[in-house]
Amino acid sequence: MSAVIDPPPAPAPKEEKTEAGNYFVSNYPPFSFWKPDQVALVHDRLATPAPADVPLGVYFHIPFCRKRCHFCYFKVYTDKNANEIRAYINAGMKEMAQYAAQPYINGRKAHFVYFGGGTPSYLSVPQLRELTNRMKDLVSWDGCAEVAFEAEPGTLSDTKLEGIREIGVTRLSLGVENFDDHILESNGRAHRSGEIDRAFTHARSLGFEHINIDLIAGMMNETEENWKTCIKKAIDLGPDAITIYQMEVPYNTTIYQRMKEEGKVTAPVADWPTKRRWVSEAFDEFEKAGYTVTSATTVVKDPERIKFVYRDELWDGADLLSCGVASFGHLGGIHYQNQADVAPYMEAVDAGKLPIFRAYQTNEEERFVREFVLKLKLGSFRPSYYEKKFGRRVMDIYSNQFQHLVTDGFIQIVGEDEVRLTREGLLQADRLCHEFFLPQHRQYARYT
Ligand code: SF4
Repeated sequence: MSAVIDPPPAPAPKEEKTEAGNYFVSNYPPFSFWKPDQVALVHDRLATPAPADVPLGVYFHIPFCRKRCHFCYFKVYTDKNANEIRAYINAGMKEMAQYAAQPYINGRKAHFVYFGGGTPSYLSVPQLRELTNRMKDLVSWDGCAEVAFEAEPGTLSDTKLEGIREIGVTRLSLGVENFDDHILESNGRAHRSGEIDRAFTHARSLGFEHINIDLIAGMMNETEENWKTCIKKAIDLGPDAITIYQMEVPYNTTIYQRMKEEGKVTAPVADWPTKRRWVSEAFDEFEKAGYTVTSATTVVKDPERIKFVYRDELWDGADLLSCGVASFGHLGGIHYQNQADVAPYMEAVDAGKLPIFRAYQTNEEERFVREFVLKLKLGSFRPSYYEKKFGRRVMDIYSNQFQHLVTDGFIQIVGEDEVRLTREGLLQADRLCHEFFLPQHRQYARYT
C-alpha cells in the first residue's frame, strides 16, 4: 500500500521507545523534496520518444477501505458508494488515457502491473472487470511478468477471488497483519481470523502463482505468546512469501491523534528492540520451515520461482506509470505524485489535465543513491555492480559510513566484492539507509 501523504519528518530516534514518526524508506530523494514547480518537467518528458530499453510498470491506486485501521497513514475513504466508485474509475481511466496518448508511453506494453491502496479488493467483480479491460485497452498487458493485487481478507468472497484470478492477477498479497481477533479488532482492522483461512484456502485452490501474506510485528496489544502463535499459523498456512513490517506510528494515524490528546510521547506499542527481536525470531522460525530471508522484510519459500517483479524492476530504475489519487510514479528519471485528495484529483482530470501535485527531476547521482539505498534492504550487494552501472566506487564514497557500520556490527565486508548486512543490520535496514543519503537529504543520519 504505497500512497503516502508526505509525513512530517520524524526526529532521529534517540532512544528505543516507539515514538511518532515514519522511518520506512520507499523512495529517494525523500518526498518532502518533491515540488509543484517541477510538474512541468513531467509534461516535457511525456513529449519525448519512448525509451527502447526501460521496462514500464503500471500502478493503479484504489483509495477505498471498509474501515480505517488505527495505524493507517494512507489517504483512504470508507464511505464511498457505487456511483462514487464508478466516477473514480472513470477519472482514473481518463487520466491513464492522457498518458497513453503521449509519445513517451504510446505503444509501450506493461511489464508489470500493481493494484495498491487502500483496498483494491474492495471493488466488486464487475468493477474490477471494467477497470482492467479499460486499462488493457490503454496500455497492453501482453507478456506482463507480474500482476500484483493487494487484498483485505474480509473482502474476499469466493466469487471475488475468482474474479481477481480471472482478470489476470498473478501475485495476491493478503493483508493478514495478525491472526488474533482481539489484536485485529483493537487495531481497527476490518477482518477477522476466520476470514484469513477461508480466503487463503480458496485462493490456493484457484492457482494464483504467488500468494504473499503481510504481518506486522508490534501491533497494539501484541504479546510474546501471541507473536509465536502468529508465526506458527503463518507457517501452517504456507504462503509463498511472507512480508513482515515493524509497527510504526506515523503522525497522521488515529493512534498518534490519541497520543496527542493524552499528551503522550511514547506510542502504545512495543519498543524497537522488542519489534526487532520479534522479526528476528520470525525469520529463524521461517528458515526452519524452509523459507529463505530475501530482504529486510521478506521471507520466500522458493526464491528461484517466487519473485517480486514490481519491487525489483522499480528499484532498478523502471518507469512507473501511476494513476489514481495520491499515487507515485516515475518516468524517465522524474518522480511525481498525484493530488492526495479525491476532490482536486477529480477536478483536474475533469478539466482534461494530469492531476499531478508535485514532482522531482533526479540527477544521475541521486539515481545512484536511490538504487543503492533501496537495494541495501535486500541484505547484500556487490560494489562492482555500482561501478559498472554508475561508474561509482561505493567503498570509497561511503568509506566513513562502512567503517562505522562494520564497527557497530551492522555490516560485514565478506570478500573482494561482497558486502552483507548482519542480522542486526537487516533488522534496522531502513534506519541505516538514511546514512547513505546525500548531505542535503540527510535528516536522521547518525554517523555524519
Ligand atoms: S486496510 Fe487499513 S492500513 Fe490498509 S489502507 Fe485500508 S485503512 Fe489503511
